[in-house]
Parts: sequence; structure tokens; C-alpha cells
Amino acid sequence: MNFFRADLHCHTTCSDGSTTPIDLIHLAAKSGLSGLSITDHDSIEAYKGALPVAAQLNIEMISGVEFSTVHQGVSIHLLGYAFPLENPIIHEFCKKHQQRRENRNRDILVRLAKHGMPIAEEDFIDPAHKEQTIGRPHIAQAMIKKGYVSSVKDAFRKYLGEGRSCYAPGESFSSEETIDLIHKAKGLVVIAHPHLVDHAKTLNELLEMNVDGIECFYARFSTDANRRWTKIAEKKGLIMTGGSDYHGNIKPNIPLGSSWVNEDIFRVLQKHYQQSSH
Ligand code: AMP
Ligand code: ZN
Ligand code: FE
Ligand code: FE
Repeated sequence: MNFFRADLHCHTTCSDGSTTPIDLIHLAAKSGLSGLSITDHDSIEAYKGALPVAAQLNIEMISGVEFSTVHQGVSIHLLGYAFPLENPIIHEFCKKHQQRRENRNRDILVRLAKHGMPIAEEDFIDPAHKEQTIGRPHIAQAMIKKGYVSSVKDAFRKYLGEGRSCYAPGESFSSEETIDLIHKAKGLVVIAHPHLVDHAKTLNELLEMNVDGIECFYARFSTDANRRWTKIAEKKGLIMTGGSDYHGNIKPNIPLGSSWVNEDIFRVLQKHYQQSSH
């Protein structure tokens, strides 16, 4: 018999994952997961397709999203969980992010052209999928197709990563305003992959903000790393979440379910979701 495992961090083709929402639910069932939250970048579009299939396959779901934010110039990803999916606040915020990305992606294309690597929007935008969150991984894949780079990693390391020659920051939303907004939408806020937060000072400032949880279990964390984050969570009374950050082919060595939370943690979030949705 399978024991209860829930992956609370994964991406679909609605953002920069390569698995469709429906295929992701099938994969979750095949991987022996009992619970799931899809956390696409700046989008909750995946739930439309995913929820009915999840109900059929007995995968329990709670709402989720991963917002890109900036705190004092440092890029921070915040996960929102357990908000009612029909809440207009999250929908509006996702739309604002789409506009931000459109402008930022155009800035990146201008820079790439200047560096002798022309790419057109048609090279990475699927006209049949207008609401897809387009990010740098899509641009990186177009660069691979054109032969400019050998891998997504290579594209980030040489050109698209923060501070690299073709990077463009674009507009940004602060961590604080994003936290307020998720709370107004009746959701919970979790600091995503805290090990990627560049400075200790930034992380401390985030922990002083009104966050509800911290992602303590993340694909390929060592036991020591898990302990570091669970200790912080215990001290601050934060919910300990976890997930794989599955992206499909885009990050091929990270399988769905490679990091997860147990039933107790899942039920805490699920209870909040049920209460917020009624
Ligand atoms: P964007 O959302 O457009 O700012 O792009 C950031 C996304 O690109 C992250 O959420 C990751 O999924 C991915 N990413 C960031 N850094 C790298 C990297 N070095 N290699 C591959 N993917 C990356
Ligand atoms: Zn991503
Ligand atoms: Fe992230
Ligand atoms: Fe993610």
C-alpha cells in the first residue's frame, strides 16, 4: 500500500513546464502521489484542466501559484496556496504579471538581437495557447533551436541569468505587496526554495514579513539542508511545505514526487483551502 505523499511544487505547460496539466495528474497517479498542488509561475490556468482528472484519479488537490517578486533588488519566489481558485484578486495579479513578462521578454529579445542572436516572438509563443506564462526557459529553448546555445543551463549561464549580457529586469512586484495580495485573496504565503535566496539578510527580512510557511523539503536537499529549514520553521511557527519543483524536460533530472510533504502537513493546507473556498 502506498503511504500518503503530496508534491506541493510543480509546473505545467501553462508556465515553463513541459507536461500538460492533464498529463501531470496522470503522472502524479503513476508516481504514487495522493496529493498535489500545481504552482505555475504567475498562472493558475492549469487547474481548469487538472481538477476534473484529479477527481477521477483520486488525487487530492489544493490551489497553488508561484509568484516572482523582488525584495531590495533580490529575486524572490513566493508560493501562494489554498486560496479560492475563483478569487478575482489572484486572476488580476496573474494578468499584471503576464503584461510585465511580455514587456520584459521584448527587452530580452532586443538584447539578444544586439548580440547577434535574433529570435522572433513566434519562435517561442504558441498562438493556440494565449494565456501561457512565457519565461526565460522558453527563450532559452528557442536559442537552442537556433544553435546559439547547447542547453537551457548554458543559455542562463551565458546570456539570460541575472546580470548576464542579455538579461533584462523589467518591471517587478515587491515581496511585501505580493504577500499582502495573497492574504487578501485568502491564501497562505510560503517562501519558495529558501536556499536560492541570495543573502542571509534578505532571508531574515522575508522571515520578518507576514509569511505563513517556508519550503523545507525540496528536490535533492540533503538531510542537513532539510534540518536547517525545519529548524527555522519550528522557531518561527511556520508551516513546513515541500515539493519537487518539477518542470518536465526542462529540468529532466527532477522527477515529480522527488520531494513531498506528509499527510499531516497536506491536511493543514487543505483545511485552509476548504475554509477559504466557502
Ligand atoms: P523567468 O520566470 O522568466 O524570470 O525565468 C525564471 C525561471 O527560469 C525559473 O523559475 C526557473 O524555472 C528557470 N531557471 C532559472 N535559472 C535557471 C538556470 N540556471 N537553468 C535553468 N533554468 C533556470
Ligand atoms: Zn520555472
Ligand atoms: Fe521558483
Ligand atoms: Fe517553481
